[in-house]
Amino acid sequence: MERPNAWKAYEEDELGKVRKLGEKYKAFLDQGKTERECVRITLDAVREAGYISLETAVREGKSLRPGDKVYYNQMGKALLLFLIGRQPLEKGMNIVGAHIDSPRLDIKQNPLYEDNDLAYADTHYYGGIKKYHWVARELALHGVVVRKDGSLIELSIGEKPEDPVVCISDLLIHLSQEQMAKKLSEAITGENLDIILAGQPLTGEEKEPVKAMLLKVLKEDYGMEEEDFLSAEIEVVPAGKARDLGLDRSMILGYGHDDRVCAFAELEAMLNIDSIPEYTCCGMLVDKEEIGSVGATGMQSNYLEYALAEILNLEGSYSELTLRRALRNSRMLSCDVSAGFDPLYASAFEKKNAAFLGRGVCFNKFTGSRGKSGSNDANAEFLGKLRRVMDDGQVQWQTAELGRVDLGGGGTIAYICALYGMEVVDSGVAVLSMHAPMEIISKADLYEAVKAYKTFMLHA
Ligand code: MN
Ligand code: MN
Repeated sequence: MERPNAWKAYEEDELGKVRKLGEKYKAFLDQGKTERECVRITLDAVREAGYISLETAVREGKSLRPGDKVYYNQMGKALLLFLIGRQPLEKGMNIVGAHIDSPRLDIKQNPLYEDNDLAYADTHYYGGIKKYHWVARELALHGVVVRKDGSLIELSIGEKPEDPVVCISDLLIHLSQEQMAKKLSEAITGENLDIILAGQPLTGEEKEPVKAMLLKVLKEDYGMEEEDFLSAEIEVVPAGKARDLGLDRSMILGYGHDDRVCAFAELEAMLNIDSIPEYTCCGMLVDKEEIGSVGATGMQSNYLEYALAEILNLEGSYSELTLRRALRNSRMLSCDVSAGFDPLYASAFEKKNAAFLGRGVCFNKFTGSRGKSGSNDANAEFLGKLRRVMDDGQVQWQTAELGRVDLGGGGTIAYICALYGMEVVDSGVAVLSMHAPMEIISKADLYEAVKAYKTFMLHA
């Protein structure tokens, strides 16, 4: 039952492809550090590949035919891609869905304060983080500020070598006797994750001179006022680029593999389809998974239904029933990263049912916690079919569950899509240090994920 290491099967030309894909993926990570940035770079790629906006198609009353490519943009934070197949939509789609939000710190709405000659911004963390990961390291600011008049400022500070970065300080080891005795979860508090933004007083300013200096810089360099933070979404993320990891360059160390590695694999798979597929292929890049898929851009919102209704309408076949059939008859890979077996923490896993770096794309029948609670738990029939499809497509794959029974757990978007009655199973790439500022994946697993997702879209 043990799955072979994927690397062993690669000849020289395929190794070249694995490396090339790794380079492309690192660029994707570097340019897509927020959900908005991921949507933007994906839009560039799909437009170039001939995808047209669903809104435009609706406005122009374009009739959709097999082979047509359409995208739907939900508020610039989630994106749906459709490649229309030969079969009518009511026969269902082959859906591959991933999320593009990653754990991070968000700047609060009223963030700024000065304390003893330093100016700070308060943050509220987003998603599951170990707080001690975020102190004493280079951080960058990415996001948007919307002024009262509706104009938008886009920020990306801390990525270019000449850019300044921001940082959260940690207590020096010399004075940490009390801190070091605390539980890891309590040693750094969420309310203390405040970033240092400035340290020089503005000459002639009596009250809060350092904050005044900061406001002056914000005004002059970025065109924003303090009040503009009220309508801003600024994310604090690790600064710097994704890098090859290991002297053999077999892995990638980077921010946001969860879940941009699946998002990238999905996109790559979809853009590699050069024939008209049998069933309509749908790629989903969704937001807010890390906080429960909530909000208008999360999977719990109904924009998939909405976009599909518009597409059926353009095809001239819309009815409540065809819409329901299209969803009910679909097959889906809910793509999200899997916990990679970590030899340094072996006891957290059950080895026979763990995902290993380098052993190919993962399928997780279920996720959840405390007795599979909150999981989708895919059907055996669907898994049987997947085994056949993946083996026929010469995909290297493994199965896994999320760690030892009762140790913890987690969820994905699978259970939400399953509400429509479609077949759904979780699939993904194994990650070490998941949710840490820098996560680790194997290039072989990324390569197999692209193969798997393309095979799924064409043959499921
Ligand atoms: Mn995830
Ligand atoms: Mn996650």
